[in-house]
Amino acid sequence: MAGPVSRHALAVSETLTETPAQRILELLPDPVLLVRAGAAQAPEIAYGNQAARGLFRIELKGAPLGAALRQPQVLEALEEALATDQAVEVAFESIGVQPRYWRAFVQPLGDEGPVRQFVLMLRDETDARRTERMRADFLANASHELRTPLASLAGFVETLRTHAKDDPEARDRFLAIMAEQAGRMARLIDDLLSLSRIELNEHIAPEGAVDFSQLVQDVVDSIRPLTAERAVTVTVEADAGPLMVTGDRDQLVQVAQNLVENAVKYSAPRTSVAVEVARAASLEAARGASGREGWVSLSLLSPDAAASDQAFVAMRVHDKGPGMARQHLPRLSERFYRVAGQKSGGTGLGLAIVKHVAQRHGAELKVDSAPGAGSTFSILFPAQRVRSALTPTPAPARPEPLATGP
Ligand code: ADP
Repeated sequence: MAGPVSRHALAVSETLTETPAQRILELLPDPVLLVRAGAAQAPEIAYGNQAARGLFRIELKGAPLGAALRQPQVLEALEEALATDQAVEVAFESIGVQPRYWRAFVQPLGDEGPVRQFVLMLRDETDARRTERMRADFLANASHELRTPLASLAGFVETLRTHAKDDPEARDRFLAIMAEQAGRMARLIDDLLSLSRIELNEHIAPEGAVDFSQLVQDVVDSIRPLTAERAVTVTVEADAGPLMVTGDRDQLVQVAQNLVENAVKYSAPRTSVAVEVARAASLEAARGASGREGWVSLSLLSPDAAASDQAFVAMRVHDKGPGMARQHLPRLSERFYRVAGQKSGGTGLGLAIVKHVAQRHGAELKVDSAPGAGSTFSILFPAQRVRSALTPTPAPARPEPLATGP
């Protein structure tokens, strides 16, 4: 919350930073103001802590409250507190490029006389409101996604009970559709559960050493039934040797599976998908050269920071599918977002899962695409660090002994 604080404004609080209590007040992350007001005196700011000064960016001492905070609701709350001598709470929205949601607490200090003092505390509730809105939207979307196959199932049950009761051919056809709809609901529930599990431990750094090259090969082998059904060939080209990353094996399987399955699902029959797994000495090198003509490249997630000597293991999945127009790319990892006109029978959660796993693993997720030409999804995981920087290749048969105590 604290923003730039002018040197002049800091001087105002110098006298108030003497005791630990005053110091604490000064350092509180929420803006706190001391306001003086009376029946014959318009509210005036007597003190503002560092967060308040950062927020208002003005000299606070002696400033009329109405000029610093142009919010009639807050002024009314103060009037009410003045009249009743009770605490008053009010919510308001500040208008700017991005509207922000605030809650103000006005607390009389209980002193007497024509001019009285009030503590005015402000709390920024924008993030909480946004999260709340996202949760509500998510719940509405998830319910809608589940309701569609459920309505179809209910409809067929009714038809089987009535019109198709004595029609064995229609019954078989309808049962096949019902099985498919039930499968769709099951996939949706599985993906919703995966997403919520991943979100739950997203803040916990993953442990475990995984050979990503082997993992990708295993995933490609496991989806042979899908590739056969779609008549799409998948090839894997990997740098020699194990390509180790620190990660949660099950989640990495899910990432590789979702990206390769998407490439297969959206490709036309008798086309091919190429999967590359390679090690690069840095994030820059792993990103590779961008800019194929007519292709748009977009990073869906970048790691917060990567040490310059951090090596990366990249998986790139190239397909010759329908590709996607530029406007779709930024929305791909939103839950339930699907490119209009593409039929997959998917849940719309696959890339959201990929993004959350990538986030937990400090990875980068990138898409390159050109309508009509294809797409490349790339995910770059930080490679597991080798123990000694002096022994790159060949790796020693045994790890070097670690230095022990004196
Ligand atoms: P879905 O379960 O629908 O595949 P995803 O989250 O995995 O959900 O993908 C979101 C949307 O992105 C898909 O519905 C599809 O429109 C588009 N998409 C994903 N991968 C590809 C790809 N390789 N080629 C073309 N479009 C893709």
